Amino acid sequence: MSCWAVIVAAGRGARSGLAQNKVFFPIAGRSVLARCLDAFRDSDRFDGAVLVLSAGDEALYRELESREGPFELVRQVAMGGETRRDSVYNGLMALPEDCEIVAIHDAARPFVSKSVIDATLESAKRYGSGVISTPVVDTVKQVGEDGRVVSLDRERLRAVQTPQTFAFRQILEAHRRARSEGLAVTDDAMLFEHYYGDVRLVTADGAEENKKLTTRTDFERLNGAAPDFRVGQGYDAHRLAEGRKLVLCGVEIPHDRGLDGHSDADVAVHALMDALLGALCLGDIGRHFPDSDPAYKGISSMKLLEIVMAKVRAAGYRVGNADVTIVAQRPKLAAYMPEMKRNIAAGLGVPEDRVNVKATTTERMGFEGEGQGISAQAVALLVSGSSM
Ligand code: MG
Repeated sequence: MSCWAVIVAAGRGARSGLAQNKVFFPIAGRSVLARCLDAFRDSDRFDGAVLVLSAGDEALYRELESREGPFELVRQVAMGGETRRDSVYNGLMALPEDCEIVAIHDAARPFVSKSVIDATLESAKRYGSGVISTPVVDTVKQVGEDGRVVSLDRERLRAVQTPQTFAFRQILEAHRRARSEGLAVTDDAMLFEHYYGDVRLVTADGAEENKKLTTRTDFERLNGAAPDFRVGQGYDAHRLAEGRKLVLCGVEIPHDRGLDGHSDADVAVHALMDALLGALCLGDIGRHFPDSDPAYKGISSMKLLEIVMAKVRAAGYRVGNADVTIVAQRPKLAAYMPEMKRNIAAGLGVPEDRVNVKATTTERMGFEGEGQGISAQAVALLVSGSSM
């Protein structure tokens, strides 16, 4: 049977209080979205998946893919709509003609397990629908319009989650009708129920863990329990040339020559950016800011550092600390160290006690020692979570 998944990641996550869509943030080193895709891949029952994204999130997804992918299961990306219902509909419309069963899943539930997915799939194959559900542990009250409170029998209540899995033709038809009739629903099970009478609820091991991540606290608690650390190192060297300014850690330093390069050739910031990109497993600055691109000609490397830091934050990390070593025979750099350190701390968005900048000579050995050029090395530690 042809089985597909529609993974809905188009939420704006307004309730989460995060700067961007929560599905791109890591939990203990792997993003919410990647965790969902892993679970559907591991189920081994799907021919593919359509990922529904907000238009503005496409670049974030491409970056996530280069960091945590490839996500072979994702055959197509569809764009989200005004409401969740519209987003699911767009996902369904992107499925192939011969699809028979579709599992619809909210990407904000990264702890979905193979047993949960398979239970809904088995039910949908037999009965046309399968929706994962759990018993309700709280006592639930219904408040009437007149304010009268009625206690509901907990034994007969179920909380439903996703995946919600259906016969493809039926759920697609239900969506079409709901759109033309303007039926407002909060999940697909409601829609199915409205047009076909009832849905099959299923339970499975792991359903209790299949929680939806909603608030910033959800992330902080999870990451606090298991923070993820990433370390990266960077190295760079530039030639000294006549008629150039010498810029190190964003500080212009008087000297008879300066470093040659496409940008301002701030070798220390280049090494630092490579350390940050290294920690993110995103290659190097040459890939992100190619020499061939006129946009970067003469640009301040501190500007480029801003762009790299945006990538650090987008991946859900902050800088723990950074250490930069500049290797130069001349000029003497000690007097400029406090300003360099201040610049780097500001660029990384950390207090100054998280940054170290130091300089060494090579006792006249090698290209730095002979004054042909200056090199720099850097290490940076990234910590997951708290930059959200
Ligand atoms: Mg360089």
